[in-house]
Amino acid sequence: MGVWKGIVGKGFTPEGFAQYITTVSFPLWRPQFVVLHNTAAPKLSQWHSVTGQQRMANLENFYKNQQHWSAGPHLFVDDDLIWVFTPLNTPGVHSPSWNAISWGVEMVGDYDAEPFSPQVRDNAISALAAMYSALGRDPESLRLHKEDPLTTHACPGRNVHKADMIQAVAARIASMHPGEHAMGATG
Ligand SMILES: [Zn+2]
Repeated sequence: MGVWKGIVGKGFTPEGFAQYITTVSFPLWRPQFVVLHNTAAPKLSQWHSVTGQQRMANLENFYKNQQHWSAGPHLFVDDDLIWVFTPLNTPGVHSPSWNAISWGVEMVGDYDAEPFSPQVRDNAISALAAMYSALGRDPESLRLHKEDPLTTHACPGRNVHKADMIQAVAARIASMHPGEHAMGATG
C-alpha cells in the first residue's frame, strides 16, 4: 500500500494533546470525522506489560513490516496517555471505507471482553473533543469502525456506546468554549 509514512510515537496527557493539536497544520489533507476503534489485541490488561514507547515501536513494526501498509491509525488512547501514531495531517489506514476522510482513534482494550475502562473513556473523550475542536465540526459525525460496511469485525466491542461517547464529547467541547455558540454552526 505504498511507502511507510512514519510515526510520531509520542504520548501526551489530555492537556498536552489539546495543546499539540493546535500546532498541527493541515495544508494537504483535512479529515471530516473520527472513526472510533478498540485494539482488541492487546487487551488493556496486557497493554502495560511493555512501555508505551515499546508499544509504539511494536505497532510500527506490525503495520509497516507485517501488514505492509503505508500507515496505521492516528491515535492509541490508553488509561494514562494519548499516543499519537500516524501523523494527524496525513490519511491513516484503519477503516476501509473512510481512510481518505477520517481520523482513526484506537482505544486500548477489548470492549467485548473487558469493561470499558473509565480512564480510557475519559482520555478518549478528551482526545475527541480536541480533534473535533480542531476541525470545527460537530461530534455527531463520530462513527464506529463496525459501521463501516466494508469492515469484517465488530469494533469497538459492545461495551462502547456511540450515543454516550457523542454526548460526552459534545459536553467536553462545550466546557472548553464557555459562552460560545455550538460547534459546526457554520458548516
Ligand atoms: Zn477497528
